[in-house]
Amino acid sequence: MNRIVIVGASLAGLRTAESLRANGFTGELVLIGEEPHEPYDRPPLSKTVLSGWIGTDRLLLPRTRELNARWLLGAAATGLDLAAREVRLADGRAVRFDGLVIATGAGARPWPVPREAALRGVHVLRGRDDADRLCADLAEKPRRVLVIGGGFTGSEVASSCHDLGIPVTVTHRGVAPMAGALGSVVGTAIGARQRARGIDLRVSTTVTSLVGEERLTGARLSDGDVLDVDIVVVATGSVRNNGWLAGSGLAADGRGLDCDTASRALDVTGAVVPGVYAVGDVARWRHPHFDAPPQSLEHWGNAVDQAEVAAHNLTHASTDPRHTSALPAFWSDQFGMNIKSVGLPQLADEVVLTQGCFERGPFVAAYGRRGSTVGAVAVNSPRVLDGYAALVTQRAAFPPAINATDSPVARPVPVTVSGGKP
Ligand SMILES: Cc1cc2nc3c(=O)[nH]c(=O)nc-3n(C[C@H](O)[C@H](O)[C@H](O)COP(=O)(O)OP(=O)(O)OC[C@H]3O[C@@H](n4cnc5c(N)ncnc54)[C@H](O)[C@@H]3O)c2cc1C
Repeated sequence: MNRIVIVGASLAGLRTAESLRANGFTGELVLIGEEPHEPYDRPPLSKTVLSGWIGTDRLLLPRTRELNARWLLGAAATGLDLAAREVRLADGRAVRFDGLVIATGAGARPWPVPREAALRGVHVLRGRDDADRLCADLAEKPRRVLVIGGGFTGSEVASSCHDLGIPVTVTHRGVAPMAGALGSVVGTAIGARQRARGIDLRVSTTVTSLVGEERLTGARLSDGDVLDVDIVVVATGSVRNNGWLAGSGLAADGRGLDCDTASRALDVTGAVVPGVYAVGDVARWRHPHFDAPPQSLEHWGNAVDQAEVAAHNLTHASTDPRHTSALPAFWSDQFGMNIKSVGLPQLADEVVLTQGCFERGPFVAAYGRRGSTVGAVAVNSPRVLDGYAALVTQRAAFPPAINATDSPVARPVPVTVSGGKP
C-alpha cells in the first residue's frame, strides 16, 4: 500500500496514524481535518476548560512518535468515490488513496428551530471553537444558564457553570439525568446529588421555544414556566459526521458508518469494502461480547482501541487480523463526582447497589441482563471497577456475590424504575 489517507484529524485519526507508523507503514500518510486545529482532546472542554482552569490552547493531544505525514487542515471532505479511490475536498481537490480510514466523529445535534438556534447566547459544545465562544459568554456573568439535556455533556456543563457561581437550570426529557446510559435508578441518585448542589433540575420536561429577537432573553418550558436566561447550551446528543459519505455506497447514516469488529467498513449490501476502515465515534458495529444491535460508542477509549485495530489490519490483515473486543468504558467528572462505567449498562434489565449507598459518598452499582452481569458504574470508587470488568468479561451470574452496601437491603430492581416508583 503506497498511500493511506485518514479523514478526521482528531483522537481516532491521530492514533491511527501513530499506530500505522508503529506497525511499520513507510508509505505516504495524509491526514485530512475539517477543523483548522491540530488534534486536541475533547473531554476537558466541558470540564476544566468551561470551569476556567485551562484554556483551549492547552488541549493538544500528546504525540507518541514522529509521523512524517502530510496534514490538510481546515479542509472538509465532501465526497468519496470508491471506484476511483478518491476523497473529494470542499475546495475542489481530490486526494487519491490506496487505504482509507474514516474518523470523522460526531457533531452536536443542533437546536431544531434555525431562527432560535441563531439567537446570540445559544450554544452547543463539541469543539474548541464552541468552547471559546461559550467561555466568552460565561465571562459576561449571565443571570442564569439553561442546559437543555441532562446527559453526560449537559450534566458536565451544568457542573462547570455551577463552579463559576452561575445559577443553572437543566431540563431533561427523561425521568432522570443520564438515564439513557445508566438507567433511571442510578440516574435518579445522581440527579438528587445535582439538586443538593443547587441545580434547578427539571426532569420529564422539554423546552418548547427559545425567546428573543437577536439575543436570547428566555425559554418556554413544557411545564408552563418561562425562564429568564441569557445563555442556553443545547446538549441533546450528537449526530455522526457522515453526510460527506452520501452516495458513496458505504452503509452510513446519522447513527453511524457500519463496520465489522476488524474496523473494516461495510457497503450497503453488508459486504466488506477492501482497504476502507471506520474508527472512533463515527463507527457503528456489533460488540462481540454482547448480544446487542450494532451501535456507535462515544467513548475516548473506544476511539483509541479501534484506531489500533484498524492500523494493525491495514498493515497485517492477511497474516494476523485483529478484532476490537475491549470492554466499553468511559468516565465523567461532575459535581465532585468521578463517574466511571464499564460494560454496557444500557443493555441491562436489572440493577443492584453493590457498594456504598446512593444518598451520599462513593457507591458502585452492577447491571444485569437475563441473569448475567453486563456492566457496572462506580461513583468516586474508580479502582474497584477492574473487578467488575472481570465479572462482565466472564458473563458472571447476576446479581454478583458482592454485598458491601451501607443500605440494609440491596436487591436487584428493574433498571428503569427509580426507587420503586416509575
Ligand atoms: C464535551 C465532550 C466531553 C467528553 N467527555 C468524555 C469523557 O469524559 N469520557 C469519554 O470517554 N469520552 C468523552 N467524550 C467523547 C470523546 O471525546 C470522543 O469519544 C472522542 O473525541 C472520539 O474521537 P474521534 O476522533 O472518533 O471523533 P472526534 O473527536 O469527533 O473527531 C472527528 C474529527 O473529524 C473532523 N471531521 C468531521 N467531518 C469531517 C469531514 N467531512 N472532513 C474532514 N474532517 C471532518 C471533525 O472536525 C473532528 O475534528 C467527550 C466528548 C465531548 C465533545
